[in-house]
Amino acid sequence: MKTFDLIVLGSGPGGYAAAFRAADLGLKVAMIERHAALGGVCLNVGCIPSKALLHVAGKIRMADEEAHGVTYGKPQIDLDAIRHHRQSTVDTLTGNLALMAKGRKVEIFHGEGRFLSANQIQITKQDETQSDSTEVLNFKHAIIAVGSRAIRLPFVPYDDPRIWDATSALQLERIPEHMLVLGGGIIGLEMATVYQALGANITVAELGDQIMTGADKDLVRVFEQTNKDRMTFLTNTQVTDIQATPESLLVQLKDQTGERQLAVDAVLVAVGRSPNGKNAGIADIGVDIDDRGFVITDNQCRTSVPNIFAIGDVTHGPMLAHKASHQGHIAAEVIAGHKVDFQPLAIPSIAYTFPEVAWVGLTETAAKTQNIAVKSAVFPWSASGRAIASGITQGKTKLIYDEATERVLGAGIVGAHAGELLGELTLAIEFGATLEDIALTIHAHPSLHESVGLAAELGAGTIT
Ligand code: FAD
Repeated sequence: MKTFDLIVLGSGPGGYAAAFRAADLGLKVAMIERHAALGGVCLNVGCIPSKALLHVAGKIRMADEEAHGVTYGKPQIDLDAIRHHRQSTVDTLTGNLALMAKGRKVEIFHGEGRFLSANQIQITKQDETQSDSTEVLNFKHAIIAVGSRAIRLPFVPYDDPRIWDATSALQLERIPEHMLVLGGGIIGLEMATVYQALGANITVAELGDQIMTGADKDLVRVFEQTNKDRMTFLTNTQVTDIQATPESLLVQLKDQTGERQLAVDAVLVAVGRSPNGKNAGIADIGVDIDDRGFVITDNQCRTSVPNIFAIGDVTHGPMLAHKASHQGHIAAEVIAGHKVDFQPLAIPSIAYTFPEVAWVGLTETAAKTQNIAVKSAVFPWSASGRAIASGITQGKTKLIYDEATERVLGAGIVGAHAGELLGELTLAIEFGATLEDIALTIHAHPSLHESVGLAAELGAGTIT
């Protein structure tokens, strides 16, 4: 029976980051993955294919917008070529992972992993004849990186092919005439952006009082305003039932004014994700999980079983790839004997919509609920030379700072490339920068990142 210093269960951004770091630190590592391709949700059916499709959507949208003296023809859409772009992007990245694993001598086992004890895991795999074979591996340490899955609602007729989750929506099988997006979170809005560009009418139904929960309302408003002629946003709206008829899907909507029915020809259910902690025998070997299935960890990613760690979507905190990979590095380093922990001040969130909405650290909404005395400084892009020259003035850059010390605690940006602009502010928060630190840093002119420096100057009172 093979024995490893570390076995990682799951090959998503958490799992592969952990496995590679541990191998680089000299440990003998194995990684178990049920699917043929490595990379987990993010590379195969999440972050990466969605961005490949959003890239295409951006091209279509560009053709649609005023181009200041240049006119484009009506975009000709070739769904096969778009699917090919998505899949070749995914294949390049997952192929690279396999090579990186090989280069580091991380042994990959394909099959379903299940813990037998705090030192043994069983892998079950099916061959071409559908018969199962099993193999048991020993480990000194293990990292649980089994991720999450889409939440399913009880009243949704999932066996109808017109009902999609993000994975099926990414397949781009057809462009519906009218699509209801159930849930106004980032994943739903990104897919809505893709399908709208490809010609679908979009209605977004959101139970809460705003779409993109987590971002401050003033940023979200810019996104809504920019898209008001392209999508219908129904907030404070509950979807209570979906009836599948041969002609359409009849969606029952309920809000303060009463109930009504909407006929659509596709529904994307994007109501959040649920952790996979109740699977793979995790609880059976004494690892503590909570009621929802999150594995409970300390700030070194260690579970209640001291030689077993957990990272990524299966643990508390935002379900984001970069949070998973950072935890993966920490867990691997702790196992290798380093004294490190996972205590980030700032985990950035980005909606890759048009315009992009990006935020990091404390939001104004959270400051209010937590009674933290903050002020904000907002630089409108209508005053940015670069934004005006590029015709992208619907944007703003906002810094949220401690009233007494002027230390930057949070930031939000809405506008083209907002996600790229957020990097500077994430670093500023981690470094404990004040408004003055940012204002005294020379930002290139004319640039969009200049808006960060100008927001800081506004807050610090060096300009008015
Ligand atoms: P996962 O990526 O879920 O990987 C877990 C792996 O474990 C899977 O490959 C699974 O097959 C394997 N596994 C599970 N159980 C077993 C078992 N018993 N045996 C063997 N293998 C097993 N995040 C971002 O940061 N940016 C984005 O732009 C972004 N876009 C997204 C778009 C969509 C449509 C979706 C659905 C998600 C998106 N996310 C994004 C979220 C991101 O994909 C996740 O946060 C990330 O993948 C979590 O990584 P992980 O390593 O925890 O788990």
